[in-house]
Amino acid sequence: MVNEYVYCPRLCYIEWVQGEFKDSADTVEGRLGHKRVDRPGTSVQEDAMDGTVIHSRSVTIGSTNLGAIAKIDLLEIEGEVATPVDYKKGKMPDNEFNAYLPEMVQLCVQGLLLIENGFKTTGGVIYYIASKKRVTISFTKELIDKTKEALASMKNMIDEDRPPPPLVDSPRCYGCSLASICLPDETNAMKGVGEEIRRLYPSRDDQTPIYVIGEGHSIRKSEGRIEIWKEGEMVADRPLNDISQLSVYGSANITIPAMVELMGRGVPIGFFSHSGWFNGYAIGTFNKNIGLRMAQFKTGFDGTLSNNIAKMMIYGKIKNCRTLLRRNDKECPSESLETLDLLAERCLESKDNNSLLGIEGAAAQIYFSRFNNMLKSNCPFDFNERNKRPAGDPVNAALSYSYGMLVKDVFNCLLLVGFDPYFGVYHRPKHGKPALALDLMEEFRPIIADSIVMTAFNNGELKESDFIITKIGTSFSQNGKKKLIAAYERRINTEVTHPVFGYTVSYRRIIEVQARLLGRAMTREIDSYQPFLTR
Ligand code: SF4
Repeated sequence: MVNEYVYCPRLCYIEWVQGEFKDSADTVEGRLGHKRVDRPGTSVQEDAMDGTVIHSRSVTIGSTNLGAIAKIDLLEIEGEVATPVDYKKGKMPDNEFNAYLPEMVQLCVQGLLLIENGFKTTGGVIYYIASKKRVTISFTKELIDKTKEALASMKNMIDEDRPPPPLVDSPRCYGCSLASICLPDETNAMKGVGEEIRRLYPSRDDQTPIYVIGEGHSIRKSEGRIEIWKEGEMVADRPLNDISQLSVYGSANITIPAMVELMGRGVPIGFFSHSGWFNGYAIGTFNKNIGLRMAQFKTGFDGTLSNNIAKMMIYGKIKNCRTLLRRNDKECPSESLETLDLLAERCLESKDNNSLLGIEGAAAQIYFSRFNNMLKSNCPFDFNERNKRPAGDPVNAALSYSYGMLVKDVFNCLLLVGFDPYFGVYHRPKHGKPALALDLMEEFRPIIADSIVMTAFNNGELKESDFIITKIGTSFSQNGKKKLIAAYERRINTEVTHPVFGYTVSYRRIIEVQARLLGRAMTREIDSYQPFLTR
């Protein structure tokens, strides 16, 4: 923990106070390196007194006086002299000490703990696994002072209710496994700090979701894979490592071992009705970032704070609706676009969520009155008005189904970040309603869900045969659902240039970035929430 603090106090806070952790290739490699040296430890003090050289592995040692505890990888003891040895996975650095400062401080804490426990210790060893080199570190007065100072300021930081600010334009962020959680440059940019905004994480996730649609499927686990069976035959399978989420539409069976394995890996399992209604999730242990949820509830219960965020979300939604119309409804009267602009501006002046509801309603009326004009003449269906449960026509059925998929992804993301998706800032809390997911998806409705519906009809992907049209409503055929899901996955994985941050990322990543920025706004780390606006 102290080595992380010396590397970056914010990293230490996110990992140890907020309880968030993300593996990178480096952290996995580091764990494997330690696995080789970790063995159950021995009782050090008793063994040390027999006068022989003793090597003890994985020794846990603590001191109430220092207020610290450490696990020493290897302890070499000769008489009363103890030398801690710390294993590091990487190569020995070519600098003055042949070691990095955070590692030296970590080793020095171990030395101080040994001294507190009655040993003589003047130095320790860092063993670099990749270089196979032992580097001796002397516990000089300067290093001891730095170590004690780091311990003291780290303890003060732990009592703070928000993390220290991100480093500014620091090269350390390149090697930081928590960069996608921390968002250093994005957070700094929102505060007007820093020179450039670097994309410090992959533009998209390599893992992909599994959708199981229809009745009679059985989902099982087998040797590192998830298998989907139907009527005694395996119809699909996927390595566990490649799965980002599992979405079950209709009534499939899932075995307990499959469920436990997915939950243990943090892969959420979403359950949907046959018609796409989102019923809920099975997830592993809940995100530990209680501070974020406290800030969320505080914001949600405060009319002004929640309105400050809600108005930005609805502003974003209206602006994005306007952009979609401008791009795709070539005959859209300029008055309609101007009114949408005006309504968006009025959002920013709103003082409460009731007035916001009125503004949003007025904007929706204009937007949906023009939706049919965005459908090309080869589309076999008309759209007259927005209706749902049951959808009155294929376009409405497709819109509802797309919103269901979008809310699932936003919900998923909010859980990942540490929110309670059922308590929002705009949508009122109601049994079974994922209010915060509905809030955050507002700005994405036009550019993701509406956009795929429009495209799927315009390019002929969705046809009459993909719907079941009855007097009481319209629903999707099995095949139609598959087509819309495929279109949705294409869209959500599309990489776009972020209009503020300037880098290219997938829509799925953008939703995650927005969810994290929402958290920053709620914890008051940044002044306001800025919605994602497409150009
Ligand atoms: S990304 Fe940079 S600022 Fe953020 S925790 Fe890591 S090192 Fe610190």
